Formats: sequence, C-alpha cells, structure tokens
Amino acid sequence: RMKIDEELKELQNRIDSWTPPKEITLFSELPLSSRTLKGLKSSHFLNPTPIQSLAVPQALRGQDILGSAKTGSGKTLAFLIPMLERLYLDKWGPMDGLGAVVISPTRELAVQTFTQLRDIGKYHNFSAGLVIGGKPLKEEQERLGRMNILIATPGRLLQHLDSTVGFEAAGVKVLVLDEADRLLDLGFLPALRAIIGHFSPVQTTSSSRPSRQTLLFSATQTKDLAALAKLSLHEPLYINCNKPG
Ligand code: ADP
Ligand code: MG
Repeated sequence: RMKIDEELKELQNRIDSWTPPKEITLFSELPLSSRTLKGLKSSHFLNPTPIQSLAVPQALRGQDILGSAKTGSGKTLAFLIPMLERLYLDKWGPMDGLGAVVISPTRELAVQTFTQLRDIGKYHNFSAGLVIGGKPLKEEQERLGRMNILIATPGRLLQHLDSTVGFEAAGVKVLVLDEADRLLDLGFLPALRAIIGHFSPVQTTSSSRPSRQTLLFSATQTKDLAALAKLSLHEPLYINCNKPG
C-alpha cells in the first residue's frame, strides 16, 4: 500500500510537470505506472505511435481530447492507456463500480478493443466487460453491476441505461467515443445524445477540472464531428496527426 501511494505521488508529479520532449521512442519515457508498462511490454508494445505520444500525456492531465489520426495509427492505445491510468491514479477498486466506458461503432471493433484492454491491462485489478448485444439482455444485466470498465456499442448501452435497474453512469470518470466518424456515419448521433444525457453533467470545480473526462477519437474530421464534440467535450485539446491537404 505504502509503495503504491509513493508510486502514485511520483506519477502525478511527473504528469503535472510534463513538457513534451522532441521525440519519444519508448513507452517507458511516458509518465505511466509500472503495471501499465509491464502490460504493454508483455503485449510487445515498446514504441508509442505519434498519436499515442501526443495524446497520452495530455489525457493523463485530465483534459478532454479530440484526436484524429488515420486508420491503423494506434488510436486504441491512445485512449486505453490514459483510461487505465486515470482509474489507477484514482485508486479505483472493485467496489467503486463503473469508472470508464468506451463506445465503439460496431461489435467487431468493441471486441478488438476489449481484447487489447485485456492484454495491456492484465496487471491491473479492474473488471471489464463487453456490452454489445447478441446475448439476452438479462444475462448482460447480471454482470453489469460488477464491472469497472465497459466496452459498448451505442444501442445496447442505451438500452441498459434506460432499463437496467441500478446501472449507473453518473460516477464514470472517463468516457471514450471511439471511431467517432463511423459512429456518426452509422446514424448514432441521437443515441449518443441520449447516452451522454445519462452521464454526470460536466461540473467545473474551483480547480476547473471537470469531474468526467471525455476522449473522442476519429480517423477523419467530418463536419458532423463538430456537433458531437460540442455535445460531449469540455474545452478539448485538438490533436491532429493527419497530414494537411
Ligand atoms: P486505429 O484505431 O488508429 O485504426 P489501432 O489502435 O486499431 O489503430 O491499431 C492498429 C494496429 O497497430 C493494431 O494491430 C495494434 O495492435 C497496432 N499497434 C498499435 N499501437 C502500436 C504500437 N505502439 N506498437 C506496435 N503496434 C501497435
Ligand atoms: Mg480504431
């Protein structure tokens, strides 16, 4: 316990005093917990991609992010890493309930994200589950109450938020909207609007840090994205790894 407290304090100091170096070649140069670094290493992730180097340290500071980088550039770890670190820094435990939610446009993407989370998060003690339909609602309902992290598709998540007794999104610390351009292409804007309505209203404390952090990632920046960003993000930092033109 003492050892963890010391690590958390040191981590928070490194995050607070973070100034981006010219170049980052190793994950171990980022201000990350030993558990996450171990998970990355055992999954053979050693060198962060550009979107990961840029977005992870900023997200660790609690800021909302709108990140865009083309398909295949590693956006999944760009949000999974800060999500795990947020819960770890907050000493999130099994009894603290739902702490993070990732919304994916399709079941396939949700499963991929879940698999990557299980790989890099295996040295943490968080419970994680998929909410993607395809199974009886009741079966999912029974597992939901025990989950710290959910990877979900919009329709099914909304179904639970509307109908599962005791399923609470108000305490969620990190909300991720992944592949936001595809979410919009698939017509999920109304569902997303309803989902975001279930999450705690973004409160600005005296330290001006909102109680919930939202990370939005997209391969492209379409016009509709601005509407979704306005709906969900609070003073976001824009990180664009796509070459102009
Ligand atoms: P995107 O969401 O931007 O399309 P993904 O997060 O799905 O990209 O990553 C694409 C592929 O790159 C995946 O197979 C993933 O495992 C791999 N990958 C991601 N980050 C790294 C990294 N830092 N080092 C090596 N491979 C990586
Ligand atoms: Mg992706």
